[in-house]
Amino acid sequence: MKALIKTDPQIYKLIKDEEKRQKEVLEMIPSENYTSKAVMEALGSVLTNKYSEGYPRRRYYQGNNVIDQVESLAQDRAKKLFDVPYVNVQPLSGSPANAAVEFAILNPGDTLMGLKLAFGGHLTHGLPLNLSGRFFRAVQYELAGDGSLDFEAIEKMALKEKPKLIICGFTAYPRIIDFKKFGQIADKVGAYLMADIAHIAGLIVGGAHPSPVPFVHIVTTTTHKTLRGPRGAMIMVTEKGLRKDPDLPKKIDSAIIPGLQGGPHDNQTAAIAVSLYEAGLSSFKKYAQQVVKNAQILASELLKYEFSLVSGGTDNHLILIDLRNKKVNGALAAFALEVAGIVVNKNGVPFDTMPPFYPSGIRLGTPAITTRGMKEKDMKRIASWMNQAIEEVAGKEMPKEKEARSKYWKAIRKEVEKNKTLLQIAEEVKVFSQEFPIP
Ligand SMILES: *Cc1c(COP(=O)(O)O)cnc(C)c1O
Repeated sequence: MKALIKTDPQIYKLIKDEEKRQKEVLEMIPSENYTSKAVMEALGSVLTNKYSEGYPRRRYYQGNNVIDQVESLAQDRAKKLFDVPYVNVQPLSGSPANAAVEFAILNPGDTLMGLKLAFGGHLTHGLPLNLSGRFFRAVQYELAGDGSLDFEAIEKMALKEKPKLIICGFTAYPRIIDFKKFGQIADKVGAYLMADIAHIAGLIVGGAHPSPVPFVHIVTTTTHKTLRGPRGAMIMVTEKGLRKDPDLPKKIDSAIIPGLQGGPHDNQTAAIAVSLYEAGLSSFKKYAQQVVKNAQILASELLKYEFSLVSGGTDNHLILIDLRNKKVNGALAAFALEVAGIVVNKNGVPFDTMPPFYPSGIRLGTPAITTRGMKEKDMKRIASWMNQAIEEVAGKEMPKEKEARSKYWKAIRKEVEKNKTLLQIAEEVKVFSQEFPIP
């Protein structure tokens, strides 16, 4: 980064600071990962200089001979990897990809059905504040009491509400998703079925989670989570989707441009192509299996420390901890863990009575630490640190009343920041992390 040091030492320094942070902590936010050097080189390439509105061989700008090849290669790799006949690799990120699908097949006021955010759905699955909930009539299903998908209730809602689009695939769901059952329900009511596999795409191509492709019409995914590519997204149409609506590809292409976006980010497209190449290697299969193995060991260790896990454990890369039995709020637990060098996110749990800013749980996962090469025995160590850290804040319950709560939150953070045990764990984590280089 020689040019950057010279031109903008301030930003250079901040990048170095962030690099240091990423090296010295355990990144356990389940939607994050470390992308490869090769992906980053493509992302930082001259391709960022080009305008290429349109699609390969159908552009509004001249000079796209090379870019056409880049985008076609990305498309071919995605089709092969996911076994789909159509893909659009231009969505700038996961949320615009979902908005594009909704825009492509729904008219304002049409009904869409998705899992409620508080139960692990995504903003773009019908949250009232999101475009998906504002411009369409969003009906929202919930999970069963044990944190699993309640297919009886989902079917009942679908029969009653007659949605035009059903969305499955989630943000905070630790179990295998039965896409076949969703497919049967969608077919029964004639709805389009979209699987949003943002979180589990890498597990699917690595054979560590069943694919939705035989059962759904449309698949959307981000490329930067378990797939380990650059920030970005893709929209795919399956054979089943083409049978339901042969115009789906055309509708989706034009929902992206001119519907929602202008020029694609060609450097991002190239980096996606690189990550799709990497995801096709046998080493990636091993990676995906290890992600799940690590999550399962971590879950069983956490259970030994009497953590309460939503749904009782995990089948995938993520774990949702309900902290109510530890008498500590998710926001405070996540803060304490960060002080201890373990980075997770606060998260609501099913039937949470607390607001989203102070939810009752935390969400964590193994994609990034597995990329660093951590294995089963390392998970035991991490669980023990987590337990030690949470013990430091256990019993420090948030006041229920709003004003008292924000006052308390400020004060407790000051206290926790200086906690000797937490800072000691952070030191141990730092030493431990050095054994596991980031790409
Ligand atoms: C992360 C995520 C997205 C959105 O991705 P962004 O790139 O952050 O817009 C969409 N759907 C699901 C299920 C996700 O987990």
